[in-house]
Amino acid sequence: MAVRIATCAACRAQYFPPRLLCARCGSEEFVTTQVRTATIEAVTQLASGNHRNDPVPVHLGSVVTEAGLRIVARLAGPISPGQQARLHMRGRAVLASPA
Ligand SMILES: [Zn+2]
Repeated sequence: MAVRIATCAACRAQYFPPRLLCARCGSEEFVTTQVRTATIEAVTQLASGNHRNDPVPVHLGSVVTEAGLRIVARLAGPISPGQQARLHMRGRAVLASPA
């Protein structure tokens, strides 16, 4: 499933996850669009003590969509800043995998 982005119907500000009110203009009306790709902006690895139940190291990245929205995603494979990634949802988390 692609990532669902909420775009304010009044000022076009984008949000993920969706909000009840636009932080920029206060509007309550949003249009939902789907985003499937983004560019990896930065990556990091969680220290092993932060996820005792997960024996596999957790890699996180900030990704930026074509429209400029930044999202934190779990990286599903080896991927570096500047690379394109495919985005999809796993439960409530965003996964980014190499495009
Ligand atoms: Zn707005």
